[in-house]
Amino acid sequence: MPSCIIIGAGMTGLTAARTLQQNGWNVTVLDKGRGVGGRMATRRLANARADHGAQYFTARTTEFQQFISVLTEVGVVQEWALQDTELSDISFHHPRFVGVEGMSSIAKYMAQPLNVQTGQRAIHISGDENGCIVLTESGQAYEADTLIITIPAPQALVLLNDSYLLSAAESSVFESIEYAPCIAVMVLLNGNSLIPTPGILKFGQGPVAWVADNFQKGISETTSITVHASAAFSKQHLEEDLTATGELLLDSLSEWIPKAQIESFQVHRWRYSLAEKSYPQPYYVCNTPFSLLMGGDGFGQGNVEGAFQSGRQMANFLLKF
Ligand SMILES: Cc1cc2nc3c(=O)[nH]c(=O)nc-3n(C[C@H](O)[C@H](O)[C@H](O)COP(=O)(O)OP(=O)(O)OC[C@H]3O[C@@H](n4cnc5c(N)ncnc54)[C@H](O)[C@@H]3O)c2cc1C
Repeated sequence: MPSCIIIGAGMTGLTAARTLQQNGWNVTVLDKGRGVGGRMATRRLANARADHGAQYFTARTTEFQQFISVLTEVGVVQEWALQDTELSDISFHHPRFVGVEGMSSIAKYMAQPLNVQTGQRAIHISGDENGCIVLTESGQAYEADTLIITIPAPQALVLLNDSYLLSAAESSVFESIEYAPCIAVMVLLNGNSLIPTPGILKFGQGPVAWVADNFQKGISETTSITVHASAAFSKQHLEEDLTATGELLLDSLSEWIPKAQIESFQVHRWRYSLAEKSYPQPYYVCNTPFSLLMGGDGFGQGNVEGAFQSGRQMANFLLKF
């Protein structure tokens, strides 16, 4: 039975893993996190939920539409009705989808039939024409015929260079992929927010780029708000004290999030949020003695749907190999 190790249990890795496993492969997924989902992330704030990474996603391609229909039928995905929403630079002609219990619930569902090892940070890769070995920080060694890496390209570059696996020309492919950082604030309110229906604010300038009311979005039983700082603000404040940065962002939103209603807030620093520069193809085949594919949202479309396509197409490449 052919075997594959997949590093990263986000949308890319889980999609590749499911496709290979459905075709009889022995697949092991490794993730450094405590749970699955990566940037499809949801946090609990008392009785509320807040998506603090991806906010919603499109399904423009047939394969992804089919997959999302299945997830909708089993009650994991629902549409966020935004068709009539007027926001200056977003067209809502295509439906936007969310996880019924937040974005991470989609990843949890996808991971159910898989062998996913969480808390396993890959730190070194070696191999020859017979296959590869991935070492993790906890001292485990995982072996397989092939390897798929789905972590953000700057992190993959470090991992592959530490393992002496890339030529200078190959390194430049990874170096050309760049991500914007994003500081995210999750706020628990003791009443409704003043954010108008359907629960979105979007700003073209200033410290805040995006605000979403997770209650109006339909994923939280009580009101919680997600705030995403702009890329420029996030770059400027990335290494600063998170609480002070969160307060600064919330000060600028008091018209919609009155201070007296804030019960508590948490701040998360995403060093890699959306790809600002990506590789045009959905994956890259490395020139290594064993089969090594690199994908993720830095390859191709650069969002949740792009991550699905990257994972699916890497699996299809290996199945034809
Ligand atoms: C703030 C923010 C807002 C966004 N908004 C949207 C949006 O509205 N719509 C949209 O479509 N997309 C959005 N995105 C982008 C979307 O979340 C990503 O494109 C998509 O989730 C990427 O999936 P992935 O599997 O490629 O990567 P990830 O989800 O990053 O998965 C990679 C996984 O690899 C793991 N990992 C990293 N290093 C190692 C290691 N050394 N060993 C083991 N595991 C490792 C990580 O823990 C992670 O789970 C947003 C992202 C952010 C952060």
